[in-house]
Amino acid sequence: MQPLPQLSSGTPPRPLKRFLLPVWLLVTGWMLSFGLYQRLDQTRTQYDDARLDRMIGRIEEDLQDSMTLYENALRGGAGFWVSSKDADWNGWRAYVKAIDIRKRYAGTLGLAIVAPVADSQLEKFVASQQSALPGFSIRRPANAGSLTSPPKDHFVVVAAEPSEPGHPAAVMGVDMGAELARRSAAEHARDSGEATLSQSVILTGLADAPRGFILFQPVYDPALPINTVEERRNALRAWVTVGIDSHSFFAKLLAPWHEQTSLVAWDEPQGRGAVIFAHLATDTEKQPSPADFERHLSVQIAGATWTLAFARTPGFPFVDRWPSVAAGLSSAFLSLLLAIFVYSVQSNRAHAEALVAERTRDLANALREADSANRAKSEFLANMSHEIRTPMNGVLGMTSLLLDSPLNEEQRELAETAHISATGLLTILNDILDFSKIEAGFLELCPEPFDLPAVLHSVAALLTPQAHAKNIEIRCDWSPDTPAQWIGDEARLRQVILNMVGNAVKFTTSGHVSISTRCLGFRGDHAHLRVQVHDTGIGISPDAQARLFQKFMQADTSISRRFGGTGLGLAISKSLIDMMGGEMGVESLSGQGSTFWFSLWLPFIPPQTHPQPAPLPAELSMR
Ligand code: ADP
Repeated sequence: MQPLPQLSSGTPPRPLKRFLLPVWLLVTGWMLSFGLYQRLDQTRTQYDDARLDRMIGRIEEDLQDSMTLYENALRGGAGFWVSSKDADWNGWRAYVKAIDIRKRYAGTLGLAIVAPVADSQLEKFVASQQSALPGFSIRRPANAGSLTSPPKDHFVVVAAEPSEPGHPAAVMGVDMGAELARRSAAEHARDSGEATLSQSVILTGLADAPRGFILFQPVYDPALPINTVEERRNALRAWVTVGIDSHSFFAKLLAPWHEQTSLVAWDEPQGRGAVIFAHLATDTEKQPSPADFERHLSVQIAGATWTLAFARTPGFPFVDRWPSVAAGLSSAFLSLLLAIFVYSVQSNRAHAEALVAERTRDLANALREADSANRAKSEFLANMSHEIRTPMNGVLGMTSLLLDSPLNEEQRELAETAHISATGLLTILNDILDFSKIEAGFLELCPEPFDLPAVLHSVAALLTPQAHAKNIEIRCDWSPDTPAQWIGDEARLRQVILNMVGNAVKFTTSGHVSISTRCLGFRGDHAHLRVQVHDTGIGISPDAQARLFQKFMQADTSISRRFGGTGLGLAISKSLIDMMGGEMGVESLSGQGSTFWFSLWLPFIPPQTHPQPAPLPAELSMR
């Protein structure tokens, strides 16, 4: 029976298995998409940060530039003041007007001259001022009162321009030394010789009292040395100062950026001190702290240290987030499509595999059914063997008896024909029944010791009458190294040899048939036996040789008509030799005879353990 075909791809993948790859693809794809989005978003954020940093850098630069501008204006004023021998008020006024300070210098209120006056000289000083400016008096700045001890000297404003009503002229007579922030800055400027910025103060003399700071530039007597602090204190003639409204100052500074960032400024490091400016995106009651902002920096400016804090407002030109979101979403969507695609491919594959499995099962069932039907038929035939042979043997026995009885010529002819027909029929039946037995797997070999020369002799003897009738010689060539005693199924081997010799005689019209044996090798108690039957008969074409050992096959139909036969003999012989683990074959040329052979390993009995039977003559000639 043919082995049942195996399913090459096994059972179709279970539903859970089918989900695994798509789910893995989806999860991995989404993770990668998220990674892609994060990477793009990070780049975007870095770009925004860099832009903020550039903006802050520009603001800081502008701040320093503005302060340098103020210092230069003050230095000009100081130069003017030091070059005029006596207070040249008209000249001073003309200078301030010429530099057009309010317009050109953001947040400035005006320039003032502050004179140092010793406390002991104060009354005399006031009297001299009053002689030039009736009504002149010493006044304290707006948020004065923070000094711990009364000062020994006074820093009195003696000139202020421009002098429109409500403007710096209103600071005339103010004692800048009476207030801590102003005094500290003035003293620092005096001692260092550098322009110095005060901390945040309430600017005096203005109706809405804005907060601001004052920049002091010391003016020294050019005739005196100013190398040491002492010398500078001694040489000081006055300060030129400028009052700056911090709100206007910062508002101007921030103007190009005010929609993009919040800015809070403190007049001390790390956000200590007073808030000198606040531009916030939202109104809040809360006191701002640098920690609430994205960036904060300390700015060294004219002897002071300010803290500036920045935070981007919604107006900041952020890089659009959508491209990164769109890239991430597209990638996630593609992953989804890929997962769906893979899932559908897998489902289709599973479906196809299920179909294949179903068809294969059907096919296997059909094969099994066909095989069992075939088996049933073969079993039936094999079982029928006895039932069929018995009546046939009966017919043969009766015709033999009949032939032995006294018969007239005609009766004998009829009885002989019946006997020959019954013999032929029995041969055919035997072939069919043997073949059925082999097919059904019922045939079993019965190995037992046998004498090979005796088998060959009996076959030759059996076929001699036929050969004799055709004037053919049957030779038997026995190779002396071939053991005579073997262990095997004697009856089946005889059947094979009989078939080969029978065919040889049958398909030979003249010449001879030779049976030869050879031993091809020994292995322990086994020997490789080869038996071959050569004839000088009609031969077989190469085409016919190819299908010779198939059941019911004859070399060609004309031959079957001429010689008869079932076409089963060689198929049975080959099956028997196969069962014994051997090989069977043919070499032949059309019209030049054939050589049929088989070879197989069989246990043999060495000659010394058994008395050797009378050897077969090297050449058995039966004519
Ligand atoms: P059959 O009963 O028909 O002889 P076999 O199986 O024994 O069945 O032989 C099959 C066919 O092989 C024969 O019909 C014949 O055509 C061919 N054949 C077998 N032996 C010989 C031979 N010695 N010479 C020529 N043809 C042969």
